[in-house]
Amino acid sequence: MAEIDLVVVGSGFYGLTVAERAAVELGRKVVVIDRRDHIGGNAYSKAEDETGIEVHCYGAHLFHTSNPRVWEYVNRFTSFTDYVHRVYTTHRGEVFPMPINLGTVNQFFRSAHGPRAARDLVAEQAAEVHSDDVSNLEEKAISLIGRPLYEAFIRDYTAKQWQTDPTELPAEIISRLPVRYTYDNRYFNDTWEGLPTDGYTAWIERMADHPNIEVRLSTDFFDESQPVNKSAVVGNVPVVYTGPVDRYFDYSEGELSWRTLDFEQEVLPVGDFQGTSVMNYADLEIPYTRIHEFRHFHPEREYPGDKTVIMREFSRFAERGDEPYYPVNTPEDRARLLAYRELGKQESGVHFGGRLGTYQYLDMHMAIGSALSAYENRIRADLT
Ligand code: FAD
Ligand code: UDP
Repeated sequence: MAEIDLVVVGSGFYGLTVAERAAVELGRKVVVIDRRDHIGGNAYSKAEDETGIEVHCYGAHLFHTSNPRVWEYVNRFTSFTDYVHRVYTTHRGEVFPMPINLGTVNQFFRSAHGPRAARDLVAEQAAEVHSDDVSNLEEKAISLIGRPLYEAFIRDYTAKQWQTDPTELPAEIISRLPVRYTYDNRYFNDTWEGLPTDGYTAWIERMADHPNIEVRLSTDFFDESQPVNKSAVVGNVPVVYTGPVDRYFDYSEGELSWRTLDFEQEVLPVGDFQGTSVMNYADLEIPYTRIHEFRHFHPEREYPGDKTVIMREFSRFAERGDEPYYPVNTPEDRARLLAYRELGKQESGVHFGGRLGTYQYLDMHMAIGSALSAYENRIRADLT
């Protein structure tokens, strides 16, 4: 290991941000390993064989941030298109704009309210549940938007997504549900948003493109037959570990629970299937939560006019061996996480980071932002 200054486990945005900083700013030799056969973690994308349409292989990824530091950093590796994300939802054979806004409210109630009247209407319906009394997602949502809107757009979608009745889900999940009393139907509120002009993989490859960074793919940190593995490295070389924290400790405190997604991809012989990039399906009769149509993420590109790629998304609890996507975060999970954090503190020279390493849902800008902070506040000191 003499020639390696830092081992990064996982080539997602968290791991690559730390690797890039250590290589460029400090001139350190970094080895990045990933168990998958490609770089980039869940943000990885590739051109679909038949159509050339860029497909986000682990679900649609939309970049957005209000953090000037992150925005400056990511622009070193890619420019962004002016794509603005908008989502629609189908309920009982009718399409509505999401997130719930004045357009959704007026279409749903067959009304022509202005902001004030719509606010009063929703407040009257929401009064059924007092916001101080909420103990679960259903009550929280009703206290925010009233029962009719909740039952149409939230209840069944959420039940499909979490495979759990909303009365048994924590209220926090929905606290970020915005309702807008304007016709603004932008999905994100952030200062900057867009998609990487020449795709996620080109962006990610540029982050790793440095003589001091070596990426080894199809390499599992727990595979003792590999030269860079946990027993060989920990204690000898600083490590940034972005894999699942429970796996690192061999599940000694129990397994953390995750939700996973199944994706069904299809090439259709039409130029445009749904007229927009993401269509949610609010009703239980439709087993998937949404359909992505990738050509609409890049209207500026020349894609074939007679074919399109769609991806249906299904949600379920993950079992060991499935891709862990969203932390479920039950009280048992939180207790286990605390126990793993305590164990983590005793692993000298190992930094746990990223979505899997901290058991936290992180958007890309959050993964990058927290990697930059961890590098500056803790990791750099181990390398100098
Ligand atoms: P990851 O990208 O998961 O990278 C971790 C890497 O570690 C993986 O490549 C994995 O193979 C590797 N690894 C794990 N264990 C080992 C091991 N034992 N040995 C070697 N390697 C290992 N963010 C947004 O900003 N906008 C979005 O629209 C958005 N949509 C998303 C949709 C879905 C379905 C999901 C799951 C996430 C979405 N995200 C989105 C979040 C985004 O994917 C994450 O912010 C980002 O991937 C976090 O990067 P990371 O480096 O922490 O983790
Ligand atoms: N949600 C919903 N109906 C929708 C969209 C979202 O009920 O049409 C709820 C659902 O509970 C979901 C949460 O809002 O878990 C967050 O939605 P978001 O689209 O941000 O989820 P993600 O894209 O991260 O899966």
